[in-house]
Amino acid sequence: MAIFVYAENINGIYKKAAFEAVSYAKAIADQAGDTVTAITINPTDSSDLLYQYGASNVIHIKDEGLKNFSAKSYAQALNEVATGNIIVFPHTTDASSIAPMLAIIRNNSLITNVLEAPESLSPFTVKRRAFSGKGFMHAKADAAGVIVTVSQNAFGVKLNGVAGSEEIKNLSVVNDDTKVLSHEQSSGKLDLKEAEIVVSAGRGLKGPENWGMIEELASVLGGATACSKPVSDIGWRPHTEHVGQTGKAISPNLYIAVGISGAIQHLAGVNSSKTIVVINSDPEAPFFKAADYGVVGDAFQIIPALTEKIKALKG
Ligand SMILES: Cc1cc2nc3c(=O)[nH]c(=O)nc-3n(C[C@H](O)[C@H](O)[C@H](O)COP(=O)(O)OP(=O)(O)OC[C@H]3O[C@@H](n4cnc5c(N)ncnc54)[C@H](O)[C@@H]3O)c2cc1C
Repeated sequence: MAIFVYAENINGIYKKAAFEAVSYAKAIADQAGDTVTAITINPTDSSDLLYQYGASNVIHIKDEGLKNFSAKSYAQALNEVATGNIIVFPHTTDASSIAPMLAIIRNNSLITNVLEAPESLSPFTVKRRAFSGKGFMHAKADAAGVIVTVSQNAFGVKLNGVAGSEEIKNLSVVNDDTKVLSHEQSSGKLDLKEAEIVVSAGRGLKGPENWGMIEELASVLGGATACSKPVSDIGWRPHTEHVGQTGKAISPNLYIAVGISGAIQHLAGVNSSKTIVVINSDPEAPFFKAADYGVVGDAFQIIPALTEKIKALKG
């Protein structure tokens, strides 16, 4: 029986988190001596992209009724085509609401935010993130079927090309539930949750007029910008940039925190980043305890110098 994985797309384009989920499913399949079947709903991207990460079969669901997102309808559609006992999801906002619904429909165990390939497949046991990323636990599935969501940027995207084939499935799931009518991108910029690099700033920047240097550094690095909660509360930055316990939870490969003290509520949303760099004028700032690299100094001197250095290296 194949290992199934939901390959999420946005406006038809696969998310990086979908490739990570397929890579994760491939690791399980290798452990089980099995293959990976990816399920995808109304994509415009080619299935070739999914074969690259180890999906040897792609079930492409075509359903006009699923053009707009509805967790319940998506769960119903996935339930119609996923015949295996293990289903993998990325831990994205949408998938995190589909997975529990599917687990209820199928009476499966649900383990969210998993970090590593399973320690055992029988019983299914895996390490997962807990307590807003401040701890870990090892979870064991009791039901015969298990659904997992993969913490973003934890397992990583792994090229593992296989020969693949695609099957088109025409469905018409009845969609009488609440559904998203339209998506509006907050701006033309990089999606904060998908960004590999995030440059984030806090109250240490003194005012909104000083964000030019943060935007420039993010642009030079090809990253997105974020901010602490007070900064968006005062209106220096849009709320879409607020990260932390009450904002977005992100896990980029590189998180650069500038003039942010490192309060526990801020860390809750960023401490699963792969590498954290903290720039703060106060050597006692709590953020340094969570940092991989720290620079004690004035952001107004360090950021422009750093940006120039990176430009020179790139140029
Ligand atoms: C229920 C609850 C939920 C919360 N949720 C969130 C959340 O989701 N996200 C969040 O961010 N916060 C959240 N908070 C707020 C959190 O507790 C902190 O108050 C907030 O994170 C502090 O923001 P800050 O670091 O930008 O500001 P400050 O704490 O004022 O820190 C500013 C930092 O800038 C440094 N600095 C000053 N000047 C310079 C300079 N020239 N160069 C370099 N560094 C400089 C200072 O040393 C200081 O460390 C929450 C609080 C509560 C009670």
